[in-house]
Order: sequence, then structure tokens, then C-alpha cells
Amino acid sequence: MRITSVDVELIQVPARVPEFRWREGLPGSDGPTTGAWLVIRTDGGVTGFGFCHSGIILNDIVERRLRKELVGADPLAREFLWNRLWELDRIEYFPVYINGVVDVALWDIAGKAAGMPVHQLLGSFRDAIPAYASTVTFGGISEYLDVADQCLELGFRAIKLHAWGDVRADARLSRALREHVGDDIPLMYDGSAGFDLADAIYLGDALADAGYLWYEEPMRESSVTAYKRLGERVAVPLLVGEVAAGAHMNTADFIATGAATAVRTGWTLRGGITGSMRIAHLADSYLLRAEVHAGSLPNTHLCMAISNTTYYEALIYSNPVRRPDEVDANGLVHAIDRPGIGWEFDAELAARLGIHD
Ligand SMILES: [Mg+2]
Repeated sequence: MRITSVDVELIQVPARVPEFRWREGLPGSDGPTTGAWLVIRTDGGVTGFGFCHSGIILNDIVERRLRKELVGADPLAREFLWNRLWELDRIEYFPVYINGVVDVALWDIAGKAAGMPVHQLLGSFRDAIPAYASTVTFGGISEYLDVADQCLELGFRAIKLHAWGDVRADARLSRALREHVGDDIPLMYDGSAGFDLADAIYLGDALADAGYLWYEEPMRESSVTAYKRLGERVAVPLLVGEVAAGAHMNTADFIATGAATAVRTGWTLRGGITGSMRIAHLADSYLLRAEVHAGSLPNTHLCMAISNTTYYEALIYSNPVRRPDEVDANGLVHAIDRPGIGWEFDAELAARLGIHD
């Protein structure tokens, strides 16, 4: 099988309503944007799709670099193409998500060619996984506790906080949430790189006292040494390696320093499904968990295929809380049984993309 064409179909992505509230002073989501579908057609009768929120950027890179790299190549030679794109990244400095968009489209082709969902092609480990409720930033402790009650009522059995980025306020919130939900609900905290080492230690101690399951990305991940020092000072388990450039490489360093008690994986920031599985297997060799970052269909396949992962991340960005469509009343996300990634398109988009089945 050979790739015959590589195209970008630009689409308008409406603004998130309500908007993703981030910590003080920072917007969490933008307005309407131009997204894109990457469309890789083959002479084997199957077409692969990958989605990108930054459509203009993807289009530029396809025009200048990716089309001539991919057309004529074997779409099933994913390891070869993954390494070629990593080599091109050294020349072009791709935005970190670009390689993942291509890799997901190639896995879509492979799954469709095999007549299997991608998780089955990877080797399915499970057919359902619990989702945790991953909050945006809400207004105050009482609102967070109200949101937590709604999440538990909707079936979630674990909650992760994105909070204000003020360590004392966030420590008070973390303790209040633990007291409110009791000891049996796993709780996590995501710092989204809001702190320096001193503040990260302060909050880490509070999270340890409150029995949090993990403490995620409290600092920018450019200094593995800073994480090593944090890991030496706090008892709460650290979940690291979410956004570091070249995460499929430097995850090994996070592990080697002893800083990581779990690592991040997931298609968007690690070169797609290929890079994510590489990280998952690396972590498994050290008896570490590889937790999948963010939702989406490609990440659902990863959640079903990675043995050493425990949750699906479901973003909760509204109050009243709305349960995401992919999460059932028991807080579970189920395996996709459609071939490939299993993308679903409305009729208008399907016509534009040339999808007839
Ligand atoms: Mg995170």
C-alpha cells in the first residue's frame, strides 16, 4: 500500500461554551478557531484522518514539508515514518502536536486496513476504564465542593483539581475537598506548571497530608533536576513529563532521576500513538504507571491498550456539571468498536472529506 495524497481540510471550530477557565489572569480557551483534518489517502482503498486544532499551522507544514515526505511512502511503515518526522522536526522545529496528527492518521489507515479498532491492533488490555473528573478553575472552595458533589452524583469516582495557582489557597482547597469527599475517593492535583520549587514543595506537603493520588506538573518541565529535588522533598507521588518537548526522549530522564512515580503519555504531545506506546512500555519496565493526558478518541484507544494506565481524563468545565458523552453513568469510558480511530463526521463534513460509507 502507498500513500497517494496528503491534504488538509480546514474547518471552523466554535468557541468552547462556557470557556475553559484557567488560573487567575490567564485565558484557558480561545474563541472560534480554524482547525483542520489531515487527510491521507492511499491506493489500498482506505483513507486516514488526524485532527489538529491549529489548522493554519498544519496546512503550512503539509505544504512545505509533509506532503513530499509522505506521498509514495508505505502508510503501514509507521516506525519508519515516525523516525523520519522526528528527523524533520530537528530541521523545522515542528509544533509539538504535529507528529502526533500524522501518526494518528497512519494508525487510522492501519486499523481500517485490518478491519480492527486501533486498540485491538495495539493489543487490547481492557474494554472499559474509569474516567476522572478533571476540573477547570472554579470560583471558590464552596463552588468546587458543589462541583465535586455533582461529579460524584454523575458517576465519577475520582476527581482532579486544576485550581488557582496560589499555593496557600490551593492547599486549603485540597484539604477541604479531601474532608468533603472522604478517604475513599481518589483525588489528584494538576499544577499546570504554575510554581517554582519552593512553592511546589509547600503544596506537595499539603497534598501528601491529604492523601492525594498524584501531584501533576507543578513546575515547568524544562529542569529534570528541579523535579528530582522536589521528589526528594515531598511524599506525594509525582506525575511528570506532560508537556516537555521531546517527551518520548526525556521521560527516560525523569524516570532515571527517581522523580517520577508515574509519567504522562497520550497522543497530542508525544508523537501520536506510536510515541505514547513507547513511553507506556518504558514506564512499565520500571513498574511505573503511564497515565493518558486528556480525552479524545485516539486517547481512548490508548487507555484500552496500555496495561499500566488507570484512568481516562474527562474535562469538567461547566457548572452545572455536564457529563461528557463518552462517560457512562458509572463513570466508565468504553472501547470503540469501529475500525481505525473510529472518527465520526456529520453529513456535511463527510461529503467534503469524500467519505461515502
Ligand atoms: Mg495536566
